[in-house]
Amino acid sequence: MTFDPSAAFEAKSYKELDPNGKEPILGGTLRAKAVWVDESKCIGCTYCGCVATNTFAMESEMGRARAIRQDGDSTEVIQEAIDTCPVDCIQWVNFEDLDDLRAKLEKSDIRPLGLPPWV
Ligand code: SF4
Repeated sequence: MTFDPSAAFEAKSYKELDPNGKEPILGGTLRAKAVWVDESKCIGCTYCGCVATNTFAMESEMGRARAIRQDGDSTEVIQEAIDTCPVDCIQWVNFEDLDDLRAKLEKSDIRPLGLPPWV
C-alpha cells in the first residue's frame, strides 16, 4: 500500500459549516454560551486552568484566573472546570455580555493575590 503525502495538504483540519449567525465571536466550534470568570471572586487556586488547560490561565498581575479563549476546550471539559471551582465564580454567559462584564470588572477594586511559585 502506498501513501500519497499530498493528502496531508489537501485534507481540511476543520469541518466547514454554513454560517448561521450563532457562531462564537472568536471562531471555533459552535457553542451557545461564552465562559466568564468573575475575577473579583476568584481565589487563584488554579483548579480551572488545570482542568481546561486551553481555556483558563492565571492572569499575571492579579493572580486570578481568566478565560483566555472560548474555543480551546470542549463544553464538557469547561463544565468540569466550572464544577471544580471552589468559590463558584465561573459562569456561562451570553457572548454579547462579555464586553459589559469586562468593563464592570475593570471598574471594580480588585487586589492582587499571591502568585503560585511556578508563575
Ligand atoms: S477554579 Fe475558580 S477560584 Fe480557582 S482559579 Fe479558577 S476561577 Fe479562580
